[in-house]
Amino acid sequence: MTYEEAPACDRHDSQVRLQLRTMHSDAARPDVLVGLFECPECGHERWLPMKTSYEESEAAISAA
Ligand SMILES: [Zn+2]
Repeated sequence: MTYEEAPACDRHDSQVRLQLRTMHSDAARPDVLVGLFECPECGHERWLPMKTSYEESEAAISAA
C-alpha cells in the first residue's frame, strides 16, 4: 500500500518523507482514519488523520 501524500519530517534540512507504519480508526470517530507515520532517518513518529474519501465514496455507492 502506498500513501502519496506522506508529510515531510521537519527535523531535516533536506526533505525526508515519513513512511506510513500503520493505520487505525478512532472509536469515537469511526469515519476518520488515523495513520502512524515514522521518519526513516530519525524515527520521529507522527499521528495524522488520513482522507477517507475512498470509504465515503464506497458508502455512497452502497447507499445508492
Ligand atoms: Zn526525521
